[in-house]
Amino acid sequence: MKQCPRCLNTDPSLFSLRKGEVYCRACIGFLGRLAETQEIEGVIDPSFDMGFKLTKEQQAISNKLTELGLKGDVLVEAVCGAGKTEIVLELITKALSNNLKVGWMVARRQVVLQLGERLQSMFKHLKVVCVIGGQSDTLNGDLIILTAHQLYRYPHTFDLMIVDEPDAYPFKNNKLLHGILKVSIKGTKVYLTATPDQSLSYDYHLLLEKRPHNRKLVIPTIYKGVKSLMILKLFRLVSSLEKTLVFVPTIKEAHQIGRLLRVPVITSQSENKEEIIKEFDSTKKALVTTTILERGVTFHGVSVIVFNGGHPIFEEATLVQIMGRVDRSFTYQKGECYILCHSYNKAIDDCINRLKRHNQNAFGV
Ligand SMILES: [Zn+2]
Repeated sequence: MKQCPRCLNTDPSLFSLRKGEVYCRACIGFLGRLAETQEIEGVIDPSFDMGFKLTKEQQAISNKLTELGLKGDVLVEAVCGAGKTEIVLELITKALSNNLKVGWMVARRQVVLQLGERLQSMFKHLKVVCVIGGQSDTLNGDLIILTAHQLYRYPHTFDLMIVDEPDAYPFKNNKLLHGILKVSIKGTKVYLTATPDQSLSYDYHLLLEKRPHNRKLVIPTIYKGVKSLMILKLFRLVSSLEKTLVFVPTIKEAHQIGRLLRVPVITSQSENKEEIIKEFDSTKKALVTTTILERGVTFHGVSVIVFNGGHPIFEEATLVQIMGRVDRSFTYQKGECYILCHSYNKAIDDCINRLKRHNQNAFGV
């Protein structure tokens, strides 16, 4: 075997022989039922109702995307909070009207469920199916929302695939998942992200740099100092801000800072993540988190502080996503952004330059 048909692996050291047959060890872990060939039953009604209208800028991107999205691969670069979900709906309606098969891949299983619920409430006449690990009884539907790890169930299936946040873990730089995605698509794909990286290739690039509320992106204030001064500053900020997400580099530091500030902590190891998030949303003043909450979450009235922002885990994209948690609602305008660090580094510089560039392009100042 030169190339694995399931994951496109070509590394000969990953092919083995069992009972005289060659198999691929790269994708051997992806075991489970495959979706049957999907016959569309009768005529479906892919109309949707969002309950609100797109802004002028969103509508312009949506029109362009609807024109281009079935012709070639498109990158939609939309700043955090710009409404990237809403601007692909018209393209999806067009694809479904043409009897095409549409999938929507997102990074985290929790986001699959949230997005699935949202899309089902908007596309009332469609069967929206969420496919995640441990919940994959139903594989067939009109619109399939899934994680990258479930893509292997759909070889050569999708005419249109929405790839939501391709720069997020675990999809980013994961050759195996990229291979499996490629095998699942027979048509075109649309990448949706605020922070595209160099590895993406596409035919068209659309840019949405304005949030619906028409305010500029918040540029972080940088505070430089040694660690003890950073901690002092952190205390002051957390007590003066209304509601704060404190981002720290490591799980160990999360617990240390959480103890110091006497506030709850969330990391990838927390067992009751959803509960912690809900509680912070409704009651808590501050929450210490690792980069686990860098994207995919919206909290009303939140400010963010990055503690030890010079740590290599805070890449440019991570910082941009973190700053993107702030000022997302129409009504609350007091959210602030801070980065506490020993000294500037390239990631911090790049983050600030990127945010300023978007503001410059969108508002001319
Ligand atoms: Zn393979």
